[in-house]
Amino acid sequence: MGIELKLLQMMLRQKILGKGVEAKPLTPTVASFAVTKACNLNCLHCHAEAREPFPNELTIPEGAKVITDLAELGTQALIFTGGEPLIRKDMILTLAEYAVDNGIIPAMLTNGGFIQTKKAALELKEAGIMALGIPIDSVEPDKHDWLRQVPGTFAKAINAIKICREVDLKVVVTTMALQTNYKQLPQLVELLQSLDLDMVAIYDLVPQGRGKDVEELLMTDTQRLEVFRYLQKVQETREMLFMFSGGQPLYPSVITEMHKQHGTKPKNLLLKEFWIDAQCGCPAGIQYISIRPNGDVFPCPFLPLKAGNVREKNMVDIWYHSPLLKTLRDRSNLHGECGKCEFRETCGGCRGRAHALTGDYLGDDIACLKKVMNKEGITPDCIEHFGWCVG
Ligand code: SF4
Ligand code: SF4
Repeated sequence: MGIELKLLQMMLRQKILGKGVEAKPLTPTVASFAVTKACNLNCLHCHAEAREPFPNELTIPEGAKVITDLAELGTQALIFTGGEPLIRKDMILTLAEYAVDNGIIPAMLTNGGFIQTKKAALELKEAGIMALGIPIDSVEPDKHDWLRQVPGTFAKAINAIKICREVDLKVVVTTMALQTNYKQLPQLVELLQSLDLDMVAIYDLVPQGRGKDVEELLMTDTQRLEVFRYLQKVQETREMLFMFSGGQPLYPSVITEMHKQHGTKPKNLLLKEFWIDAQCGCPAGIQYISIRPNGDVFPCPFLPLKAGNVREKNMVDIWYHSPLLKTLRDRSNLHGECGKCEFRETCGGCRGRAHALTGDYLGDDIACLKKVMNKEGITPDCIEHFGWCVG
């Protein structure tokens, strides 16, 4: 299906059926493609430990082959990431166009440092990039720059956002919610509104890579609940969309139920286009796949376990036959609380966080929302949507 038809279909599903992206069984509906490990920043929490490139990163033709295979598998959206993907700008421009030609919607996560002119933003738009994720972690420039470890990063990110808005490129602000900054969300919301932005993806820390060094900044259950409640309140009066990424795949269902239980109604715009109409909770290896710069394939960028390498086997073969992916798809393999939980099939816990914090990718997720769900009267039957975990 061509890209225009696909967008029309998504819009109709959203408007008429109230449903997000269609999830077909055993399909990597969303894929993330890290084109380089090189980065101009040195973020404290970076799961990819980005700085220098791998010596053997995929070439543009190899990347195109991956996209051909993803199209065959039924992938609908492809998120380019890194490192900083625009360090390989030629690859991004070529592959974004190629994804569009193959009926896949391309998006990109970038720190914004290389989008400082209108020309740079227009190039991305003309290549077919549909949305950009740009991070703002704090309303205080120094705090943002501290997390990103390079002075001036906040100013560049704000400038990139303004430029993208000028050329009408969709921007989703991404923000890493930690113990040190979650209380600033109200100020952040004000800042984003002043920039005419209405979409925010909040990341819950999955302490992989350098993120292990800041593990103690992971929000507590109480703090996470405080954030959820705040987001629910905002949505009662404002047309703002919030996603939760990095290991809270049930956020759309939980927040929807919170609204019901509290007798409130979110404004119309609840980011349905970013929902996947499936009931599998953690999508790693089930509806989501990640290609790394050297061709390794991970179930999710936050779960650094190798399902294969596209230089040794093609993507289609890896998707259908990898023992790791097969293990993830059978939730009876889960251990501990997740293994015996009534939400096992609809949640499954964040496999990346389980791996990071217990060393067992089939073990428990310490950021489990079960207590919140029980308190809000949410049962497995209520779980209807899950969000994209993008990284
Ligand atoms: S492991 Fe699952 S829940 Fe965790 S970030 Fe990845 S896709 Fe999301
Ligand atoms: S124990 Fe918690 S994280 Fe695990 S499946 Fe149940 S609700 Fe999800």
